[in-house]
Amino acid sequence: MEQWLIDNQVWCRLGCFIVAFSLLACFETFYAWRPWVTSRYLRIVRHLSLNIFSKILLRALFPFFAVSFAVNFQHKSMGVLHHPDWPYAVRIILAFILLDFIMYLQHRILHKYQFLWRIHRIHHMDKELDVSTSLRFHPLEEIYSMGVKIMGIAFLGALPLSVLLYEIMYNLIVMFAHVNIQFKFKNDRFLRKLIITPGMHRIHHSVYLPETNSNYGFVLSWWDKLLGTYTLVCTSGERNLALGLEEYQDKKFQTFENMLLLPFNFKQLRLKPKKKRKLKFGIEKNQ
Ligand SMILES: [Zn+2]
Repeated sequence: MEQWLIDNQVWCRLGCFIVAFSLLACFETFYAWRPWVTSRYLRIVRHLSLNIFSKILLRALFPFFAVSFAVNFQHKSMGVLHHPDWPYAVRIILAFILLDFIMYLQHRILHKYQFLWRIHRIHHMDKELDVSTSLRFHPLEEIYSMGVKIMGIAFLGALPLSVLLYEIMYNLIVMFAHVNIQFKFKNDRFLRKLIITPGMHRIHHSVYLPETNSNYGFVLSWWDKLLGTYTLVCTSGERNLALGLEEYQDKKFQTFENMLLLPFNFKQLRLKPKKKRKLKFGIEKNQ
């Protein structure tokens, strides 16, 4: 069974994606948290086009999948989890958890450094949230994330089944976390004990920067809670939560070509609120 899953990993992942995306999009039709301002059809076409373009570039640079890399790498008998005497299930679970921690860290790094924020902000520029937002990543971000993931797999010596399970869960939870559905707060909090929920991830898409720079997790909600980046509720209240980035509210930033080209626009974008700096002559100036 395991070998069959690994041999057919592309179809397993694609099948899970199509089924989950379609189901979540259907649920959004009936239980939408907010009505859409932009046409849903247009959003899906734009975000799917960006995703397909990113995947084509990714395959050109990494002509293998993360699971295929793990299959080849396991023959090197390397990595901190390479202990054949440990129970197989323990190695699978540990690799899954630690891969998620590595993805959490890479997300924090995307927010920390300006040149990486330039590419990640394409995802944050979405003024609405729905399942299609989970497809909205710049090709350079996909390449960066894949590079980090490959290094993580090598560092851990993660087993191929761990990587496959993580890849599937990652895609499912990322789609779920962006969905335009409101759960009762007590149910959302209950799910948050383990996984990232729409209520938790929505705060990460707030225009208020201290909230944007929190709730970085992808699959497990533990890392934010353990490392002090967890925001339980947004200050504005969910009903009034403004999404996107303050500087990019114009609808022209939502087009396919602008999503692709914006990282190459050298207009400075600050992640932190401007600090006031005192000059020699006692005049205050914004930095
Ligand atoms: Zn982010």
